[in-house]
Amino acid sequence: MGSSSSSYTPKTIYLDVDGKVQRVIFSRHCSPCDIRDLLCSSSNIARNTAVLLIDSEGALISIDPTMPANTPNNLYKVMPHSTNQGEEKEDMFQNVLSQVAEQFTRAFRNSELKTEVTNRLAMLEKRVELEGLKVVEIEKCKNDLKKLKDEMTSGSMRVNCNCKYNFTDDGKKLSPRRDVPNYPKYTLSQETIDALKKPTFDVWHWEHNEMLSCLEYMYHDLGLVKEFNMNPITLKRWLLAIQENYRDNPFHNFRHCFCVSQMMYGMIHLCGLQDRLTMTDMCILMTAAVCHDLDHPGYNNTPFINLGSPQRNKPPTYSAYVLH
Ligand SMILES: [Zn+2]
Repeated sequence: MGSSSSSYTPKTIYLDVDGKVQRVIFSRHCSPCDIRDLLCSSSNIARNTAVLLIDSEGALISIDPTMPANTPNNLYKVMPHSTNQGEEKEDMFQNVLSQVAEQFTRAFRNSELKTEVTNRLAMLEKRVELEGLKVVEIEKCKNDLKKLKDEMTSGSMRVNCNCKYNFTDDGKKLSPRRDVPNYPKYTLSQETIDALKKPTFDVWHWEHNEMLSCLEYMYHDLGLVKEFNMNPITLKRWLLAIQENYRDNPFHNFRHCFCVSQMMYGMIHLCGLQDRLTMTDMCILMTAAVCHDLDHPGYNNTPFINLGSPQRNKPPTYSAYVLH
């Protein structure tokens, strides 16, 4: 008996573990913590879990070496101690985490929204800018067209020419003739008619009225008057206006016009172009030759360049006169 009361004698208690009796023996020198671990292990509960020890009547038993011993008829039971406070803290922590996550999500969404709005705004600004430029260009075109229309209506296009060198200094204007042409009639001999068809025709010994008659004959001979139902009087008026609007300068004068036109006429006959070209083609060729140096000022490009004409910026292969 003396040994059982010794402080070195182990203590035995009996537990109810899932309806079975579990005997637990521990030294009286164990710490409460060691006993708690032992109780957890005996009851299939994870170590370090907070537990309570209760007897069959539900009374709490202090877990320490001095706890009262029991018998298999009066079992103790180990119960996990639920820490509501810990759960509450965990819930609160989860709650805070959720709120923080939500704030982050909102912030990211706001950032994405801001980027998208900025991009869309930039695109809109660009479109507005482009539309604005288009409107400006359209307005410019409208103004140019209006100006052109006004100039054509007033017939003052040549007067308003931007060139500093004004081609109409002498007051000459191309305007429809209303009077009947009064150049002396010249009847062409058969010899002249035959010679006129050759590129070797001598253009130097003819008066203006004779050259006019030759040009008139060419239009009739090629069948252009008949084909295009030209009024012969209108043809005379037109040729007279052409002659009057060639300037009296050393080279690009009416004789040069006649020379080029006669060469064109001679080439048509020499090369048999009447069989190869349409009447429209021949009419275009002849009329282009007749008109090709109309109102030529008699200068090369240099005066235009020196006078600061806008034509000076054109490629050098362009004749300043042709642009005029
Ligand atoms: Zn020429």
